[in-house]
Amino acid sequence: MLKTFLKEVITIVVGKQAEDIIDMLDGKKYVNEFLIAKKLGITINQTRNILYKIADQGLISYTRKKDKRKGWYTYFWKIEILKSLEFLSEILNNRIIQLKNQIKSRETKEFYICEQCNIEVSAENALLHDFTCNECGEVYSLKDNTKLLRELKKEIDRLEEKLKLIQVEIDKERDKAEKQRLKEIKKEELEKAKKKAAAAAKRRAQKKKLEKQKPVKKKPVKKKIERKKVPVKKKKVFKKKSAKKKPVKKNKSIKRKR
Ligand SMILES: [Zn+2]
Repeated sequence: MLKTFLKEVITIVVGKQAEDIIDMLDGKKYVNEFLIAKKLGITINQTRNILYKIADQGLISYTRKKDKRKGWYTYFWKIEILKSLEFLSEILNNRIIQLKNQIKSRETKEFYICEQCNIEVSAENALLHDFTCNECGEVYSLKDNTKLLRELKKEIDRLEEKLKLIQVEIDKERDKAEKQRLKEIKKEELEKAKKKAAAAAKRRAQKKKLEKQKPVKKKPVKKKIERKKVPVKKKKVFKKKSAKKKPVKKNKSIKRKR
């Protein structure tokens, strides 16, 4: 069903002769345009003309790769299924609106017909020509719209049924897109969490490193500051302090050794 609808889209946008291109296009993977041309048995330029027309409507997307040796680009194409279905749905909805307007006009206005020439005219035009055909002189007769109205209503029913089926496909595609979106969000969140965990682990590792370095680094820094400051102010105090500290430390190290 989906393929039928997509082919109809191509027929509307490009023409019936191009509808087989749908068989070569995918909704997920990008397909090499040279492969499309080869499988369709047409030239690369003909293929591109078709693809560009579809792209103009935003119903197909592409990526391109540069050939390093030849220096030109090769394009890879992917059909936008959801957009194509929405495009078709909009066109059919517009047709239904037109048909309904036509019905309204037929139900509220009178039309006349020359049965000889099979020409139809509005009531205003019939009046203008004295209800006689200006081609053959035959008297106009009032047009019976019953059959036409029945046909118009039938056509609306047919289009509405089709729209329901298209809507089913649209819902499927939206569902797929939504699932894909959630998948990507989950993936992103997972990656974020991983990055956070990795960053936290790094921080912890750095902290540990710093903690190991602290006792080694901080003590000599403090001593240096004290030594620098103290001698400038009072030399006598410095001597007393250093004299007090040294024996305390020696005692500690001796205790540890024992
Ligand atoms: Zn006539």
